[in-house]
Amino acid sequence: MLIKQFYNYFQKKIKFKTIMNLFDVYPIIDIEPVRGEGCYVYDKEGVEYLDLYGGHAVISIGHSHPLWRHRIEEQLRCIAFYSNSVVIPQQQQLAARLGKISGCDEYSLFLCSSGAEANENAIKLASFRNGRKKVLSFYKSFHGRTHGAVVTTDNPTICAPVNNREHVVYAHLNDIDAVTAALAKGDICAVIIEGIQGLAGIYKPNAEFLKALRAVCDKYDTDLILDEVQSGYGRTGKFFAFQHADINPDIITTAKGMGNGFPVAGVLIHPKYKAKHGMLGTTFGGGYLACAAAIAVLEVMEDEKLIENANRTGKYLIEKLKNIPKILDVRGSGLMIGIEFAEPIAPLRDKLVREHKIFTGASSDKNVLRLLPPLTLTIPQADIFLKSLQTI
Ligand code: PLP
Repeated sequence: MLIKQFYNYFQKKIKFKTIMNLFDVYPIIDIEPVRGEGCYVYDKEGVEYLDLYGGHAVISIGHSHPLWRHRIEEQLRCIAFYSNSVVIPQQQQLAARLGKISGCDEYSLFLCSSGAEANENAIKLASFRNGRKKVLSFYKSFHGRTHGAVVTTDNPTICAPVNNREHVVYAHLNDIDAVTAALAKGDICAVIIEGIQGLAGIYKPNAEFLKALRAVCDKYDTDLILDEVQSGYGRTGKFFAFQHADINPDIITTAKGMGNGFPVAGVLIHPKYKAKHGMLGTTFGGGYLACAAAIAVLEVMEDEKLIENANRTGKYLIEKLKNIPKILDVRGSGLMIGIEFAEPIAPLRDKLVREHKIFTGASSDKNVLRLLPPLTLTIPQADIFLKSLQTI
């Protein structure tokens, strides 16, 4: 009895001292940004870092843009949240603006909160429409980590046993013969493809391939889903990356740059899909704050001509990078750029951030450095990076 009392007392003591820790799934750079402005972030000591990573392609209009902040604060003073069971006019305002700036006015918008959720809903929509179960995806692709998104991602190491991949077939990017052969079997509900493969190390589907893909999807009544989560929202110098190929997907998914850091994502849905109450749904998608942030992003993109800027600064960077001898290959469009070296980029990336105070991104290809800066990046800021790269 005494032993038990002592044990309970001891347990309580231990419990009291224990604090909840974070589930350790992210490799972390030991820098703590406390403030952001435009293309820069600042740590606790006030050290300035040039951000060519954009928090993983999320910062589209620049860190803490004053209009974006104002719109969120203004909304916060009125009402912060209500569910999708009431009228939220901001959702329609966002849809109208997005339709206009993207040139996709005829599509409808379903709002959700993350890229994976957008892809999940896109796959469901296709399967609802044609009643099929299989999805064709591409080698090296990344579509997120929820079930439908992770099984269509080409990385079995992030699939748990429950994420059974038996309904997914893979083809190589730009291999139209392989896609045609798979679709001809008649059991594929959708093809899902990134506008530009991002995490893989920036690989573009070529325009002829996308055109042929559109045609073969039409032929076999298979739906074409363009995952523009990373490549959309002006990043490649067009609103959506697939627009470089002049095709129309059935479904377009978008997230990262959409809220400039406020979690918001969307599924753009072709008129051929008929909506039914209860068909899709989510609690947080399309909340007032998410809409306020997303509307502000579109306002700023238009006012500051950020797509044009992404195009101009991106072209300049790509051109200059191609002239640096130690670089094997430069891939991408606009401000979505992959730089391939002969060796792993980890030490270079480390030097860039520690000595030159420049954030850059890695890829699943260890030799490829990824640039995903805010779309406000100027040519003088690009020059800072180019100069640093040449001195390392
Ligand atoms: N699709 C692509 C192309 C992505 O790059 C990502 C994230 O990196 C996702 C989907 C998943 O988005 P989220 O992390 O918001 O779920």
